[in-house]
Amino acid sequence: MNEQLTLLSLKGVGPSIVEKLANLNIASVADLLFHLPLRYQDRTRLVAIGSLRNGDEITVRGEVQLTEIKYGKRRMLLSRISDGTGFLTLRFFHFNKQQQERMARGALLECFGEVRGAGGQLEMVHPEYHEINAEVNHSRAERLTPVYPTTEGLRQLKLRSLIHSVLSNAELMAEQLKELLPQNILAQENMPGLQEAVRYVHYPPADTELTALQAGTHPFQQRLAFEELLAHQLSLRELRHRHQLKQAPGMKVPGKLSQSFLATLPFTLTAAQQRVVTEITHDLNREHPMQRLVQGDVGSGKTVVAALATTQAVEAGYQVAIMAPTELLAEQHRVNFTQWLAPLGVSVTWLSGKIKGKTRQQALVAMEDGSAQVIVGTQALFQEGVEFAKLGLIIIDEQHRFGVHQRLALQNKGANGKGVPHQLVMTATPIPRTLAQTAYADLDLSVIDELPPGRTPIETVVVSEQRRDEVVARTHRACQDGRQAYWVCTLVEESEKLQCQAAQETAEDLHQALPDLRIGLVHGRLKSAEKAQVMATFKAGDIDLLVATTVIEVGVDVPNASLMIIDNAERLGLSQLHQLRGRVGRGDQKSSCVLLYGAALSRTAKSRLATLRETNDGFIVAQRDLEIRGPGELLGTRQTGLQNLRIADFQRDQVLLPRIAVCCETIIREYPESVTPLVTRWLSTGMQYAKV
Ligand code: ADP
Ligand code: MG
Repeated sequence: MNEQLTLLSLKGVGPSIVEKLANLNIASVADLLFHLPLRYQDRTRLVAIGSLRNGDEITVRGEVQLTEIKYGKRRMLLSRISDGTGFLTLRFFHFNKQQQERMARGALLECFGEVRGAGGQLEMVHPEYHEINAEVNHSRAERLTPVYPTTEGLRQLKLRSLIHSVLSNAELMAEQLKELLPQNILAQENMPGLQEAVRYVHYPPADTELTALQAGTHPFQQRLAFEELLAHQLSLRELRHRHQLKQAPGMKVPGKLSQSFLATLPFTLTAAQQRVVTEITHDLNREHPMQRLVQGDVGSGKTVVAALATTQAVEAGYQVAIMAPTELLAEQHRVNFTQWLAPLGVSVTWLSGKIKGKTRQQALVAMEDGSAQVIVGTQALFQEGVEFAKLGLIIIDEQHRFGVHQRLALQNKGANGKGVPHQLVMTATPIPRTLAQTAYADLDLSVIDELPPGRTPIETVVVSEQRRDEVVARTHRACQDGRQAYWVCTLVEESEKLQCQAAQETAEDLHQALPDLRIGLVHGRLKSAEKAQVMATFKAGDIDLLVATTVIEVGVDVPNASLMIIDNAERLGLSQLHQLRGRVGRGDQKSSCVLLYGAALSRTAKSRLATLRETNDGFIVAQRDLEIRGPGELLGTRQTGLQNLRIADFQRDQVLLPRIAVCCETIIREYPESVTPLVTRWLSTGMQYAKV
């Protein structure tokens, strides 16, 4: 706590300021130093009035030509000054008699403010100003002046002087900004020391490249961003390390159940699936918890991999919980797992939020007495009052919707004296490796980088709404040929109600236009049994055209469906479109996807749609998505904890990640004593190491 010097000990800081600072997330002197300027003012030089441009924020000097009070809508004081190169009007709405007198004709003023207007009509509204005496040499700032993000009731000047006072106290600086990066690394990275960087960023020299500074890419800013991102990565690694020390059930088994299961499959595993299964088996054999993330494009066959992990755990005598983010997806898993494992004598139980009453009671009892071996469900699996007899493995599908902390909560849930369960998370959002290493540094990574053979690539076309009739006709022909199709309705806002309405209307329209087709409808407002019923009918081939909302985004698997139309495709993001499209192209016939777009396409929307037309490769799509939306959106930073970055910007500073990854290894290996201080410095207490 002595390093976290209290703010109250600073001169000029009382309880009310402390309260204001808290609004800015400043709780310590160090926080104050890491509260970086939003932008800078150049008060270092005088500018000739004749060279002013609209928007300049500068200092000028001039002699008052005329000062008068104007009565318009509001009473105001106008003062016209000149330096011989041009004229500038100063405009004040709040003023008093003394001010008017001080600004009398002939007075020499120095003013700082923002220039507005154009041509001969330049003005400053409420500039800072003071009268000067031409004979005296007035000192001017030697460095740029910081402008900080501030909060109501805390004036810029107050904040500035507070930070300035800390910066000018060498002893305090040395104590607050201990160098935590080893000299070696600083030298290798050619980075300035921490104190130097902090000083520089608050008060850069007058000749600093302002563009870089404003963009946050100046080497001194990057030095700080580097350390912050490094601290985040270290904290995740530390989390993982601590977790690794825990016990988990070792699951070395002969593998009979896995073999029986494989024998029932109508296909053999791809090499990529095989490799990932081997990695998982190896993890499960160990007596420490597996924490593995499996990435694989839509359709790469993650479910089979999950099922193989399941068979190993069941054979070892443990329960397996499989959790999906939506009812529909959970339902699909239930169908798959039941179909695959029930014939092998494994009991599969189902628990979702919508399961109530007696059925729920039965499920709960079976989970608690251990007779339920595999339990499929939604988040409901981990609610209060749900107990497992012997949970050995948790599988989370589509993990990007769950965050680090949720994952940890699950592990605790499963812990019951015999150690913690293994954890396997699966995602179809392929994240570039460096990014995954940073955001998911607490997980091992496996990639299924190969699709099952015999898939014909999906042909994607981009078609204007104006040609909707042609698309309807095309759908008609396809269904008459015995193919099945999806028609996906989208909506801008996440109003489920409106989205369902839109789907309903579309279904009716299509029914009118194509009376001979069997048209089904599935949306989020249907009861889960109804949804399941519709999906089963579609899967059985008794529906030709399925109108759906984006509820089918993940996990739905109907190999005979080979055509997908996405209405208002411009409204969805790249990954989402790619996921949706992945619902077709699962069988052996040629599949197509029609991206219908409405009226005016923005440039980014155009480029999104073009990307999908050009590639079927999820990794390329993800890379493009990353460029367009940034990693925050892609990963859901809110869930990764990366939204709490103070200085670094995950998007802007991506280029640093590979170097940070290397540095992270070096520190753990050679300078382990630096880990905790770095994490403590940069991560707010609440999220340092979530309680493991
Ligand atoms: P995803 O990775 O998107 O979850 P799924 O696990 O749903 O993919 O698999 C998609 C489809 O591919 C399913 O119908 C599945 O049975 C099938 N499949 C999985 N692995 C193979 C394989 N090795 N060979 C052929 N088909 C496979
Ligand atoms: Mg899946």
